Formats: sequence, C-alpha cells, structure tokens
Amino acid sequence: MKYTGKYKEMAEQFRKDGADEYTIEKFIREEMERDEFRKGEGTTDLEAYKIWKGWPEERRQMYLHNAFCGSCGGVTSFTDGYNIRKDRWGLIVEGTCAKCGGRIRRICD
Ligand SMILES: [Zn+2]
Repeated sequence: MKYTGKYKEMAEQFRKDGADEYTIEKFIREEMERDEFRKGEGTTDLEAYKIWKGWPEERRQMYLHNAFCGSCGGVTSFTDGYNIRKDRWGLIVEGTCAKCGGRIRRICD
C-alpha cells in the first residue's frame, strides 16, 4: 500500500520502530477511518486553511495550546484532527480537548 502525507510519515515512523508492513497497514487504515469520521464532525474550509497555513508555526502552536475548555474549566490543548473555519471574528479552531476529550474551540483574533 502506498501512503501519502501524514500517513507516509506515520508509516516511516512505524518502520523505524520495527513494525511489519501488515501492522503498519492496519494502523494506518484505522487512522484513515478516524480521519473520515472527523471530517463529518466539522468542516475545514479551504480559505481558512490557507490563512492558517500562512501563519508562522509558533503562532499556530500558540492557539493550539491556549484554548479554554468549559468541561474541565481551564486552559488546554487541541488533540490532532481539529478543524479550521472562517468566521466574521476571524479564524476559529474547533476540536477536542486534550485533557478531557470535550469539544473546544478557539477564536484566533
Ligand atoms: Zn477539557
């Protein structure tokens, strides 16, 4: 199986760890399924994504690690699989709290 993008990186990491191709494929297929599922939860619009990707890494990381979670009541980080969309306030990151798994969002003003 041929992998691209982040799946390729994952596969390379697995190979470095000494996993066999069967195991790698199994894990990557699961990850792909999870990504499909996440797509259904929210949509990343392309325009918003382009703006987001145009920002320096440090700025993005700052937003990704400074979100307020109403469920655990504190500052938290996003897990992988967040969505970016554009709103009249600016970009909004939506995703999952790394601490409790609740839904969180961060307005990037
Ligand atoms: Zn939380």
